Formats: sequence, structure tokens, C-alpha cells
Amino acid sequence: MTSPTPLPTPTTPTMCARHPDVETGLACGRCGTPICPRCLVYTPVGTRCPDCGRAPTLPIHRVGVLDALRILGVALPLAVMLGIVGALLLPPRSGGSLLMFLVALAAGSAAGTLMATAIMRVSRKRGPRVVAIAGAALLLMSMVRFVGGGGEAATLFRDFAGAILLFVAVSAASSRLR
Ligand SMILES: [Zn+2]
Ligand SMILES: [Zn+2]
Repeated sequence: MTSPTPLPTPTTPTMCARHPDVETGLACGRCGTPICPRCLVYTPVGTRCPDCGRAPTLPIHRVGVLDALRILGVALPLAVMLGIVGALLLPPRSGGSLLMFLVALAAGSAAGTLMATAIMRVSRKRGPRVVAIAGAALLLMSMVRFVGGGGEAATLFRDFAGAILLFVAVSAASSRLR
């Protein structure tokens, strides 16, 4: 009895994973996915499929749960503090004078800068996620200021100083944390 010799495997042409009608002999050097010249990506370490060839996220932009918690740990208390100061300095029911708008501009810039500085102290992270956390904290600041300053729902949309304060604060913070 002779052991059967395995049949030669029929050579089925390999098709590109993204272009099923394109036959290819190329494969991604990282994950092995068949790729064709149309979708391969050249990287310093060889040819890659579009998924593997995508530029990796910079470490500074990689914000994990712990980073987020650490940032929130300073951003939220600071937001409440700034909100209380805002309620005293610029209560929502003060009139719409030029001085008030100037105070709102200055206070917004100071609050945003302070928030960004505090966040940069506890984390070296930057980018859209950090900006989003800072923005959320500054929104909380605005709410604390509005409610703490005795603002009522009816006056929310006439609180122009509050809108300036929030807008300037978010701009100032995001320009530093971007
Ligand atoms: Zn790949
Ligand atoms: Zn392809």
C-alpha cells in the first residue's frame, strides 16, 4: 500500500480583497491581505493594505480612559470654580453694556487659557479629544455661572455676555490644546 500522493492544489488566482475583479500576486506585508497595485500603500517598511498603511495616531493624540479621567479630574473642579467667579463677576442679568462685553471677552480668554494650562499640566495630550473635554468643562462653567448667577430659562437667549464668555473661552482653550 502506498500512501496517496496529495493532489497538487489547483492554483486559484488570488483576488484583491478590495477589488474582487483584480487578480494579484501582492499581499500586505503586515496582515497578509491580498492587495492590488490600485490600493497598495507604500510605507517606509514595505507595501501595506490601506488599513495597515494608514498613518498611525500620534501618541500625543492617543487619549486613553486614564488620560481622560486625569484631565476631567482637574477640568471639572476648575470649571465649577470659574463658573462661581463668573457668576459674581458677570451675573447673567447684568445689562448689555459695552463694558460688560469687554469683561466677557477678557474673562472668556482668561478662563479658556486657564483651563488649557491646567489640562496641559496634568497631561501631555493634545488633539480633538482633549479639546472636546475642555469644551465640555467650559460648557459646565457657563452653566454654573448662569445658574449660580440666578439666571432663568427666559433670559438664557438674552445672555449675550454668557455667549461671548463661552465662545471666547472655548476658542482660547482649543487654540492651545489642538
Ligand atoms: Zn494589512
Ligand atoms: Zn485593490
